[in-house]
Amino acid sequence: MLTDYHLHLRPDDESATFDRFMTAENVARYRQAATAAGVTELGVSEHIHRFTDCLRVWDHPFWKINALDDLAAYCDFVRSTDLRLGIEMDWVPGRADLVAELIDEHEWDYVIGSVHFLERAALDWEDYDVWRENRTPEQIWTEYFATLADSARSGLFDVIAHPDLVKYWGARRPLPDGDLRRFYEPAVQAFVDAGVAVEISTAGLRKPVGEIYPAPVFLKMCAEAGLPFALSSDAHEPGHVGYAYADTVELMRELGINEICVFEGRRRRLEPLG
Ligand SMILES: [Zn+2]
Ligand SMILES: [Zn+2]
Repeated sequence: MLTDYHLHLRPDDESATFDRFMTAENVARYRQAATAAGVTELGVSEHIHRFTDCLRVWDHPFWKINALDDLAAYCDFVRSTDLRLGIEMDWVPGRADLVAELIDEHEWDYVIGSVHFLERAALDWEDYDVWRENRTPEQIWTEYFATLADSARSGLFDVIAHPDLVKYWGARRPLPDGDLRRFYEPAVQAFVDAGVAVEISTAGLRKPVGEIYPAPVFLKMCAEAGLPFALSSDAHEPGHVGYAYADTVELMRELGINEICVFEGRRRRLEPLG
């Protein structure tokens, strides 16, 4: 089986309104693209910051601009389609109770946990760029992976998204010196402790870094730790569904990964890969 659970039905911009993109016709375009890519199991995981409910958790200016839609209407819409119902939920440090409360209000097939910000600075968004602040690469990477580990240990999420998003800008930003495995090790331990699934996301291949999330070395460490994996593209348009899956499946097999996670009603099972 091939899955694509981390799908957005619209591009990341405020003008991509709910009414234009949350339609049966748009879902059919994604389903058609998936079929062409040999992907049978599809789920949508819209960003929590698209929904007014998120402002109960956090008041980041980016969220305030984007929080326009009704979360219950989204759930109802996705349940009217043949897609699994997910959500891409940010981990907001210090707000675990509020994040948990929001998650518990709806019946998801899975909840994807993401770290897109360090405090109020963004990892993958130029407007609030963390790299504009006066911090060293060592500090940014250390804080990112500590936050990621906390997100896993919160126990709130079924899948940890794009686990090394901190590398998003690739060569456009500095890297810490030396072997990067020192950052990955505590994260892998947190994933193991939490029993959470790790997202293999082909989105990194389309981003400035041009590398899969997690990096092959990091992925190998996760595989050796026996972690379960969820395979996704983080598509924001139909053309990205199942993006670069052939090479990715080959890499997974090389690392001894022969099963992937399937989710229903927040229960996980493993199915043969491919
Ligand atoms: Zn994300
Ligand atoms: Zn996403």
